[in-house]
Amino acid sequence: MITLTTIAEVRAACDAARAAGGRVGFVPTMGFFHEGHRSLMRAAKAGNDFVVVSLFVNPTQFGPTEDLAAYPRDPAGDAAVTEAEGVDVLFTPGVDEMYPSGARTTVHVDGLTERLCGASRPGHFDGVTTVVAKLFSIIGPCRAYFGRKDAQQLSVIRRMTADLDLPVEVVGCALVREQDGLALSSRNAYLDPEARQAATILSGALYMASEAVVAGLRDATALRQIIVDTVAHAPQVRLDYVEVVDAATLDPVDQLTTDTLVALAAFVGKARLIDNVTIAFSGDTPQPDLGVLTASSGMQEADH
Ligand code: AMP
Repeated sequence: MITLTTIAEVRAACDAARAAGGRVGFVPTMGFFHEGHRSLMRAAKAGNDFVVVSLFVNPTQFGPTEDLAAYPRDPAGDAAVTEAEGVDVLFTPGVDEMYPSGARTTVHVDGLTERLCGASRPGHFDGVTTVVAKLFSIIGPCRAYFGRKDAQQLSVIRRMTADLDLPVEVVGCALVREQDGLALSSRNAYLDPEARQAATILSGALYMASEAVVAGLRDATALRQIIVDTVAHAPQVRLDYVEVVDAATLDPVDQLTTDTLVALAAFVGKARLIDNVTIAFSGDTPQPDLGVLTASSGMQEADH
């Protein structure tokens, strides 16, 4: 594996891989790798000949009062992970490389960015789409891998990629959870043991909501209330939002009839965490997709 820091170098490496007939797989990240990131690297490795992972803590997607300075970082540990996963290039540009002075262009995806995390984090998705558009332009034609942990982000990136005719195939990958259900996140590093324990109520509430839908509940307000009432049992956890939205448009729904995303964000200790379940309505019974649990010997299906 090689680590590259300039746009010119990584672009040349991807061009050379394609010229040799290889398919490029790309995994954009902000580092502090866990099993969620590793699952994306494995998917990229399995489906492509040449894998690039970018590690860039993108300042423009953090609000002025958010955790940019405190965001967990472990450059040496991250390099060891990418090496172990057989990644070909780790791209670690500095802020000056990605945002030279004079830049005046922002990529904005309308509508999809207004609800859910977009409502709580003004400007966040403009930061995400701008940096991902730049990364797609740098890497060139590729398959790019994103986790369904960030379900709204995945929808926004898919829309942007289609709208701008970017030569990238966006691949969504399963949400990876700890054995007790907590969604893996770099921000889990902020949790002390008590907060870490309390945080499991979030996935627990989503499991309960999923079970209610499988049992026949279709009313979005009642579904939302199940989550609010469940989370109320953990006083250390403060919900930021819980929304029941159409999985394709992210518009709120009253009744669950088509594929539905149930998404939440919550403050737990020093962390703001997100989690979600997508409930598919293609067959006779609704199919909740809660992701997969980590296991020491690889992955296993979530059994809830
Ligand atoms: P981040 O480094 O947090 O910006 O995340 C980089 C990529 O990893 C994004 O596509 C995330 O959706 C994905 N990711 C983060 N956590 C998980 C998780 N628990 N399961 C699956 N993918 C994840």
